Amino acid sequence: TKFEALGLDQPLLDAISDLGFESPSEVQEKSIPILLEQETDLVALAQTGTGKTAAFGFPMIQKIQSDSRTTQGLILSPTRELCLQITNELKLYSKYVKGLNVVAIYGGASITDQARQIKRGAQIVVATPGRMKDMIGRNMVDISKIDYCVLDEADEMLNMGFYEDIKDILSNTPQEKFTWLFSATMPKEVATIAKKFMHKPVEITV
Ligand code: AMP
Repeated sequence: TKFEALGLDQPLLDAISDLGFESPSEVQEKSIPILLEQETDLVALAQTGTGKTAAFGFPMIQKIQSDSRTTQGLILSPTRELCLQITNELKLYSKYVKGLNVVAIYGGASITDQARQIKRGAQIVVATPGRMKDMIGRNMVDISKIDYCVLDEADEMLNMGFYEDIKDILSNTPQEKFTWLFSATMPKEVATIAKKFMHKPVEITV
């Protein structure tokens, strides 16, 4: 399969070509058509290094209105490193999408700088749970109108004790959004999150 067959628009195909990606990885081949064509929740069992950032990133970039400044997509990830890595990848993927801003929010760096970046307009926010909760509490970010929420490395986030933060963050998002959960493993705790916060998710395994 080629990327052209998955339903991606030209700005993404051009960025993919610049990056030298020749064909979709398995998780991309399985997720991208579903996320583009169906408005659905998704649970994907996939390890790191399988290309899962693009598996959720390409559809999110394509579905977001880049001409609106509203925050429409939220990605929660367990660590600052991962948060920055996802942000950098999404910036590369969206280089030909005019007006799309991706902002990273994580602890251990200036919260006022991050708030300033959000204020300039961030359609996609990539965040660690602790800092996200902090910024919601200070009215520095508004996730009340998001359409898509990704829980990346859900097993890791729960291992690190972020359950309460995640619950809190999700309670600030609209009921009608779609949630895409990615996890390397499916312990009871992840299944519980899926059950509690998601509605009839499509399930894929790679
Ligand atoms: P990830 O699992 O999302 O962290 O991606 C692992 C690495 O693979 C990243 O450096 C990506 O840029 C790269 N990558 C993602 N998708 C593809 C692809 N279809 N072909 C080649 N490289 C890819």
